[in-house]
Amino acid sequence: MSNPSLLILPGDGIGPEVMAEVVKVIDWFGDKRDLKIDVSHGLVGGCSYDAHGTPLTDETMARAQEVDAVLLGAVGGPKYDDLDFSVKPERGLLRLRKEMDLYSNLRPAQCFDALAEFSSLKPEIVSGLDIVIVRELTSGIYFGEPRGIIKEGNERVGINTQRYTESEIARVARSAFELARRRSNKVCSMEKANVMESGILWRDVVQEIHDAEYPDVELTHMYADAGAMQLCRYPKQFDVIVTDNLFGDMLSDMAAMLTGSLGMLPSASLGSPMENGRPKAMYEPVHGSAPDIAGQAKANPSACILSFAMALRYSYDQGDEATRLEKAVEKVLADGVRTADLMQADGGTPATTSEMGDAVIAALEASL
Ligand code: NAD
Repeated sequence: MSNPSLLILPGDGIGPEVMAEVVKVIDWFGDKRDLKIDVSHGLVGGCSYDAHGTPLTDETMARAQEVDAVLLGAVGGPKYDDLDFSVKPERGLLRLRKEMDLYSNLRPAQCFDALAEFSSLKPEIVSGLDIVIVRELTSGIYFGEPRGIIKEGNERVGINTQRYTESEIARVARSAFELARRRSNKVCSMEKANVMESGILWRDVVQEIHDAEYPDVELTHMYADAGAMQLCRYPKQFDVIVTDNLFGDMLSDMAAMLTGSLGMLPSASLGSPMENGRPKAMYEPVHGSAPDIAGQAKANPSACILSFAMALRYSYDQGDEATRLEKAVEKVLADGVRTADLMQADGGTPATTSEMGDAVIAALEASL
């Protein structure tokens, strides 16, 4: 059987810096765990514009469609702010998401004990937190028609339309139930069925898919506003939360900040299964290209390393190795190795990006 494949797109700013540390991790798994991955590299974002006049070439897009997974660093930067909208770095990212039809966005909010002090909530509320928000990514109010700003009499009216088909709801619900089966078998679906028809349909379809295909998974429903309150009050009551594009955008950002730093947050965007049964998939840290620290060896590579851990789990069926990698990152933090973003002002000398990567490799070695 051929090796699993990975397309690496480091992108701009700190993207290539954090990706260099992930490459060390990939090489380690190849050498020490006999987990060989066929890696190819490409350009996306501003660096692709510089080289080819477009943020994503057709060749790179075609390669992304062929591989088992894409791992992306970050795109953008002030150098590209004045470019025409059609060739802005972000267009490369959006084209990947759209053409790969990545409808299920997984955003874990996991609080490593060593970082509980960085949360805006009390440590006892977030310590040990481990939840995943599944956000529908390709439909809903950000895409629905009609939309626009029109004139009505003497005033302007802004219009956006929340629109979901049954099949769009069903496929993201399945994605959440499948995920729950790999975790604690618990899903909470969030909408506003009390005031929105699309919310009523959302609730009905999620319930129908549950009853017909996933009766073993515990399913609850919650209004999204109440869900936001519960996430702040007692987040550990949740395991998998599934919600639409708009509510997911807000709830996942909110849940993410329960855990402290942007430099720690991975994400996965999944689509329909390919011929080999694996879902189309792109993994990327939540953070951007951080131009304020780019080129200074200050970036925390953990979010990108943890994004690769998600690829191990969801694209390569290597759940045990994913856990090994997550535990290695946790050990590094517990041992007090910190990049600048994870330190208080008087915390001493921070680790550089590559020192943090090396510490993860050392922790992986120690795990053998
Ligand atoms: P950002 O995430 O790049 O940075 C926000 C702050 O967090 C900065 O102070 C930065 O130094 C810090 N930070 C981010 N990642 C870090 C890491 N790994 N380690 C340590 N500190 C880290 O967001 P921004 O400043 O709003 O955007 C900068 C550029 O990135 C813009 O061009 C924006 O469009 C782009 N962006 C890209 C993506 C993406 O590629 N997915 C996401 C968000 C923003």
